[in-house]
Amino acid sequence: MRISPKAQAILIPYLVPGVAILAAALMSMQSSLLAVFSLFLMLAILTPLAHNFDRLGAKMCAKNDGFMLEACGSGMISHFRLLYRHLPTNPRCRVCFVPFGGIGRVLWVSPSRKNPNFCRSCIDSSPEGVHDTEVGVLFVDIRGFTAWSSSRPASVAAERVSHFYDLASRVLMQDDALIEFVGDQVMALYLPAFPSLRGRTADAMLQAAERLVHAAQRDRSPESLRFGIGMNFGVASIGNVRKGAQKDFTAVGDVVNTASRLQAAAGPNEIVVAETLFEKLTKPPERAEHRHIEVKGKREALPVYILQPN
Ligand SMILES: [Zn+2]
Repeated sequence: MRISPKAQAILIPYLVPGVAILAAALMSMQSSLLAVFSLFLMLAILTPLAHNFDRLGAKMCAKNDGFMLEACGSGMISHFRLLYRHLPTNPRCRVCFVPFGGIGRVLWVSPSRKNPNFCRSCIDSSPEGVHDTEVGVLFVDIRGFTAWSSSRPASVAAERVSHFYDLASRVLMQDDALIEFVGDQVMALYLPAFPSLRGRTADAMLQAAERLVHAAQRDRSPESLRFGIGMNFGVASIGNVRKGAQKDFTAVGDVVNTASRLQAAAGPNEIVVAETLFEKLTKPPERAEHRHIEVKGKREALPVYILQPN
């Protein structure tokens, strides 16, 4: 049976609490203790099912590749947030508010491997397929890493990359970014569809880029890190792309490729911001330098803004 997205939006938020309350009411005829136990049992079964495994989510989302994005946009997620925000305790998924601590730990709710700020249901369980939507893309890498690593043992280079991954992901996960490691670069996706980003997406990206540069400047590893950062904004194909036997929630398109190339054009501890993103900043920094840069694969030079945070 095919359930329409509109019907899903109405049914799903009430499914878990509805079944649980019905069970509790029936059981209360026997004894209140049994009712509490049955309520907990329902939550114990349904919560990890809904948040840790693909099956339930995948069935509900069948043939609708944009389900998760639509759910955010329609406000459906707000119903989950209303229920879950009362369950103890932090940390919790930043989309649906399901807790990972407290009762979340007891109920085996675990965060997404893509970003521990989100539950698996909100990210990994989204169905296979892509959906065109607006996205902010940030790329960061270690400036001069190839030249630096060529004169050092592979184990030393690997250690440096791990240190970089660790530092960059800790900084980027402070926002609702989805983190991906691409070669020796880190990519962060900012979806304005997420309730916590919306109109502040561009501002959140710039703040993250500045935090990255400051983290590189404060870094106390034997040889200090210097980052190159490129950022872009536009419409890309977002969703679960099949990679061999696995599927991966990612973004594909020109916006992503251009962001990577802007990053390649950045100097040490420099942020290159595409004009499309810069125009969305609520308070564009006055110190930004406006330039046009040649980018591989583009016929015309791209208008960008260059920033060098102090
Ligand atoms: Zn969630």
